[in-house]
Amino acid sequence: MIFRPGTAVWVEHPDLAWAEAEVVSTAPTRSSAPSTITVVLLSNGAKVVADGRKVLPRDTEADLCGVDDMTKLIYLHEPGVLCNLARRYTLNEIYTYTGRILIAVNPFAKLPHLYDMHMMEQYKAMVGENCSQSILVSGESGAGKTETTKLIMRYLTFVGGRATGNIRSVEQQVLESNPLLEAFGNARTVRNDNSSRFGKFVQIQFDKSGRISGAAVRTYLLERSRVVQISESERNYHCFYQLCASGQDADKYKLAHPRNFNYLNQSHTFELQGVSDAEEYLKTRRAMDIVGICFADQEATFRVVAAILHLGNIEFSPGEEFDSSAIKDEKCRFHLQMAADLLMVDASLLLSTLCFRKIKTPEGNIIKAVDNSSAVIGRDALAKTVYARLFDWLVDNINKSIGQDIESRAQIGVLDIYGFECFKYNSFVFWFFFLGISDGPPLFSFEQLCINFANEKLQQHFNKKPIGIVSLLDEACMLGKSTHETFATKLFQNLRTHPRLEKPKLSKTDFAISHFAGKACPVTYQTELFLEKNRDYIIAEHQNLLSSSKCSFISCLFPSQQNDPLKSSYKFSSVASRFKGVLEAIRISLAGYPTRKTYSEFNDRFGLLVPEHVDERPYYESDYISQLGRTKVFLRAGQIAVLDSRRAEIL
Ligand code: ADP
Ligand code: MG
Repeated sequence: MIFRPGTAVWVEHPDLAWAEAEVVSTAPTRSSAPSTITVVLLSNGAKVVADGRKVLPRDTEADLCGVDDMTKLIYLHEPGVLCNLARRYTLNEIYTYTGRILIAVNPFAKLPHLYDMHMMEQYKAMVGENCSQSILVSGESGAGKTETTKLIMRYLTFVGGRATGNIRSVEQQVLESNPLLEAFGNARTVRNDNSSRFGKFVQIQFDKSGRISGAAVRTYLLERSRVVQISESERNYHCFYQLCASGQDADKYKLAHPRNFNYLNQSHTFELQGVSDAEEYLKTRRAMDIVGICFADQEATFRVVAAILHLGNIEFSPGEEFDSSAIKDEKCRFHLQMAADLLMVDASLLLSTLCFRKIKTPEGNIIKAVDNSSAVIGRDALAKTVYARLFDWLVDNINKSIGQDIESRAQIGVLDIYGFECFKYNSFVFWFFFLGISDGPPLFSFEQLCINFANEKLQQHFNKKPIGIVSLLDEACMLGKSTHETFATKLFQNLRTHPRLEKPKLSKTDFAISHFAGKACPVTYQTELFLEKNRDYIIAEHQNLLSSSKCSFISCLFPSQQNDPLKSSYKFSSVASRFKGVLEAIRISLAGYPTRKTYSEFNDRFGLLVPEHVDERPYYESDYISQLGRTKVFLRAGQIAVLDSRRAEIL
């Protein structure tokens, strides 16, 4: 682009991202070299020589209040978009359209006027087209996805509600599923005090008259490792702290301040600013009431939560025999007894489950003692499994009590997926891992790969060659003999030439992916637990222990597999491939042409836009109409808004 002196422009700025400037002069260019432009910054009058490619035109006539739809901007480029969002943000206008996409900027403050009855009534006037839709909420961690999802659900239950005042109505149950799932699936992270550690897809079903008639909640990939291990300044799942703060119930289960429990005291962060865990506990119990979880099941749920805390305090010391383990001291014996009592299993069976392992040999099964570090790993695996089953049970129960409307004609799905996770200092942590300073589980785990993978798809990088890690992983899991080493070898053999995959120099089994084009730091993943996590398996001894529980709630969480003749002894179920379900939904909604209109619909609305000038026709077609089908016109996301605004100009 040629800029005359005096032209208003944006220039890239190291601190501000973009700064307002005016062109002073443009250096003459040789054809091969990029041009340079001398500009003066409006903020401080400094003269700067900028790369011509990083200078963009600035709209000096733009409304200081911003525009409510990005498609109304004269210049649709990054600084234009950011400036528009910033202008609106200062006026508490946090929502801005970009065609059919709505951008929300997190206000970190309550803005009740945006969501009050009056506002909802205004939107209620918009009559739906009576066909199913999906809303996908995306953004990085802490951006506001979960809050937005809840606002959407609140709005949908408002327009589709019956106003009966019944607190056990479908609408209320749908809404109360949020605090309940958050108590068990959300935790404080460095980015967000209430970060969702699972993906959630809520389908709200409507009957013929547009009233809510049912709902289904599906969750994906709860972060299990958090149950037993938390990083500095993060917390475990909220429910643990809520129960510890619950007074009478905490006493009943012999709980105390979180600092007394191994699963909670690793991070030295116990409280959340402005949140009372005791009050939150009551809210969780209330949500359980409304959702329809009976008192006995509520008690059992929290008994399991308490059992996990006691389980975490069972420590081991080396046993008398070589490579064996024994319970460490009397205090640990107390926690063992508590965990066993709460799970209603035999304490000595619990101990032997942790300290011994059955091994299959050609000569038959042998019982082998495990050393104390393996006993700790086994204990943690047990805690994670129990918690994950409890979470799944809650989700199932929510679905059962809300009820599904199988005859529903239209539904609205809302997908709240967790954000892209990349820590700035991953290479640093990675380095320490190899020096043996950090012996915790890998920072870039299987869960994070799945999360990042899903988000990559969200970023519309569809034109890239798929990297194929998930299929290779599934294949490795199917073959009984695979280890993470053989998986890593296979990965590098198959994808050696892939431009986005790298093999870190210091490890044979790690791999690094550049998730986003142009991002300098690739994310390094450690494959140690990939196979195990993808298999979603449960140790046979753990299964036996828990299915022997005298508490039917717990034994039902671990139904004995022998009763099911159809199930083979080893049923492969890949977590990553189940996650691909999610991805498919995203792909369909983003990759295609979301707006479809029949020719007559299209002509009725936009016929007047067809230029009389034949010369303009190619421009018109290539820019707006992405595909012409036999009976319908297919348009890219946002294009209808562009056409609408053109139409508005003419009318
Ligand atoms: P994400 O799900 O994207 O990780 P959250 O939805 O949990 O992020 O939002 C993080 C925090 O930001 C919330 O706990 C809340 O304090 C604030 N927040 C997000 N959206 C809004 C909103 N619309 N209004 C007010 N505060 C918000
Ligand atoms: Mg969230």
